[in-house]
Amino acid sequence: MSELSKRVHQIMPSSTVGIADKAARLKLQGHKVIDLSAGRASEHTPEYICQAATNAIRSGDTHQTMARGKVEFRKACAIKLSRDNGITADPDSEIIATMGVKQGLTLALLATINPGDEVIIEDPCFVSYYPLITVAGGKGVPVPLKPENNFRWTQEQLLGAISEKTRAILFNSPHNPTGTVHSPEDLEMIARVAIENDLFVITDEVYEHVTWDGHQHTCLAGLPGMKERTISAMGLTKTFSMGGWRIGFAFAPERILKEMVKLQQHLLTCAGSFTQTGAAAAFENPPLPEVIKLWEKWDWRITMFIDGLNKIPGLKCKKPEGGFYGWVDISETGMTSQQMTDKLLDEAKVTVVPGASFGENGEGYIRVTCVKSREDLMEALSRIEDVLN
Ligand code: GLU
Repeated sequence: MSELSKRVHQIMPSSTVGIADKAARLKLQGHKVIDLSAGRASEHTPEYICQAATNAIRSGDTHQTMARGKVEFRKACAIKLSRDNGITADPDSEIIATMGVKQGLTLALLATINPGDEVIIEDPCFVSYYPLITVAGGKGVPVPLKPENNFRWTQEQLLGAISEKTRAILFNSPHNPTGTVHSPEDLEMIARVAIENDLFVITDEVYEHVTWDGHQHTCLAGLPGMKERTISAMGLTKTFSMGGWRIGFAFAPERILKEMVKLQQHLLTCAGSFTQTGAAAAFENPPLPEVIKLWEKWDWRITMFIDGLNKIPGLKCKKPEGGFYGWVDISETGMTSQQMTDKLLDEAKVTVVPGASFGENGEGYIRVTCVKSREDLMEALSRIEDVLN
């Protein structure tokens, strides 16, 4: 039999998607699983967005769009960038519709990486970064995020990771899995390092609106000197509970965007047509009261769930500054993150993600999604407590 692709063979399956699939299979078999693995909120997409997409599909918006996306969608993205991020973007040359943020990141990596190039990533980081960099022919260089530094990089760490092969920095803020939201000072440091070393920066901003307790997201591309070297991957999956729509966009300098569009022509032709129309309705106006209410509800549930986890002996967890996740320190239990994950599945029928799958520095933690229904969260707390007691 001929050999398969070495690049693909060497990457690990996605623990987030893989465990969520496993939970779905168990549910189909009748098991009462509470799935806290993938970051999928229990709420549906707000009605006015669904309505816009439904109207679109009924009125014949069922055809392929331009590879870079519909003009209306790209204009709505530019309105959103100006209103929410203080950035002026040209919808014709600097924005592309993508099928979710992961696809935006993939296009960004394929457009900027040459074989052997290094990309600096966080450790722990979102489970797909290392594999996507590998498939693009590059090498992920993990730089630790330490709890004593509030899961932030220092300038010394970043500078220490740069070699002559470094091409880009890829990071996520608000951060999955630790919940860190980079302050303007954190971003200025990253910008300084990128400019001084002539690096691209790829930013994953999918959690931008879900920040808590006064923390606020800042877009790196808006900092002086950064627009020309930053590719911002943005989306609606998390903030508007639109995970199943597979729609997002990337904002990049024209010369990079052109390359991404070329790839899009070959990979997908374009993002979905009526999903772009629905997403445009979400971006055109500031978030409506029903969306704000949704975020407030999540804030409350995250606080409630994390308080509950902290009452269980052996578990320690800070409320995230942003994002959906509890990053739970399990070191006092003496179990590895995989052992804890297996135990919770086997004995409590609760699925979580082992910290080690986010990188070496994730060992000693598990990640739990906190934006599930109140009933599921209460039941999960009670089952976890029973098992760990
Ligand atoms: N991004 C989410 C997570 O980290 C959803 C699953 C995925 O796309 O990997 O759980």
